[in-house]
Amino acid sequence: MLKGKTALVTGSTSGIGLGIAKALARQGANIVLNGFGDAEGPQAEVTACGVKVAYHGADMSKPSEIEDMMKYAAAEFGRVDILVNNAGIQHVARIENFPVERWDAIIAINLSSAFHATRLALPAMQAADWGRIINVASTHGLVGSPEKSAYVAAKHGVVGLTKVTALENATSGVTCNAICPGWVLTPLVQKQVDAKATALGIPVQEATQLLLAEKEPSMQFTTPEELGALAVFFCSPAANNVRGVAWNMDGGWTAQ
Ligand code: NAD
Repeated sequence: MLKGKTALVTGSTSGIGLGIAKALARQGANIVLNGFGDAEGPQAEVTACGVKVAYHGADMSKPSEIEDMMKYAAAEFGRVDILVNNAGIQHVARIENFPVERWDAIIAINLSSAFHATRLALPAMQAADWGRIINVASTHGLVGSPEKSAYVAAKHGVVGLTKVTALENATSGVTCNAICPGWVLTPLVQKQVDAKATALGIPVQEATQLLLAEKEPSMQFTTPEELGALAVFFCSPAANNVRGVAWNMDGGWTAQ
C-alpha cells in the first residue's frame, strides 16, 4: 500500500517507534530511522521487511539537528511523505521538586521537536498534495497523572498541535492525527515499573500488575505492533478524511 513512499519515524531505535517503522515498512514504505543507542540492530530489522532504510542520529532536542535530518531524508529519498513524531522521554517528580533541566528537555523532545519536524516536512507534502503526519501523544495528552507535569503538559500540547496541523491542511491531501497509547511495555515504562518495585520493596512482576491495575481496566499492555497497525490505517485511503483525531489505544484507561 505504501510502496514508493518514504516514512521518517523519530525515536525509532526502540519501542513504539521501531514497531511503527516496521509496520510501515511491511506496507512497502522506505524508512528513515532516528534515535539514540544501537542503530544497526533496528536498521537490520527494518531492512528485513524488504525496503530501503536510512538512519540519522539527530538529537530531537536540537532544532538545527532536526533541520539536518529533514535535509538528509530529502536527499536520500526525495521527500518525506509520512512523518511520525514519536521520540519522547519521561521524568517523574512532584512539581515543587521537578528539575528545571528535565522540564526543558521533556518540552523540547516531546513537544517542540514535533513542531520543528512538522514545519520542515509540510512544504513538500503540500506540493505533492499528499502527506501523513502521525503524532505519538499518550493518554497523558488527554488526562493527567500526578508527578508527570512536564510529560502531561507536552502531550496535551502535542494533541493541540495535531488539531492545528490538521485544520491548516484540511482542504488538502495532507492529514495529521495523534495516537494516544496507554501503557506499552517499552524501556520507558520498564523504568517506571522497576522504580515502583524498588520503592515498595516488591517483585517486578507484582509491580507490573500494580501499574496496570492503577490505570488500565483491560490489565493488558498495548503492543508496538498494535500501534503500528493504527499508524498503517492512518496512512490508508480509508483514513483520507480522518483529521485531527487523538485516538486512544489504552485498554479503557480514558473511558473511566
Ligand atoms: P523508548 O524509550 O523505548 O523509545 C524512545 C525513543 O526515543 C528511542 O529510540 C530513543 O533513542 C529516542 N530518543 C530519546 N530521546 C531522544 C532525543 N533527544 N533525540 C532523538 N531520539 C531520542 O520509549 P517508547 O515507550 O517507545 O516511547 C515512544 C513514544 O511513545 C514517546 O513519545 C512516549 O512518550 C510515547 N508513549 C509511550 C507509552 C508507553 O507506555 N511506553 C505510552 C504512551 C506514549
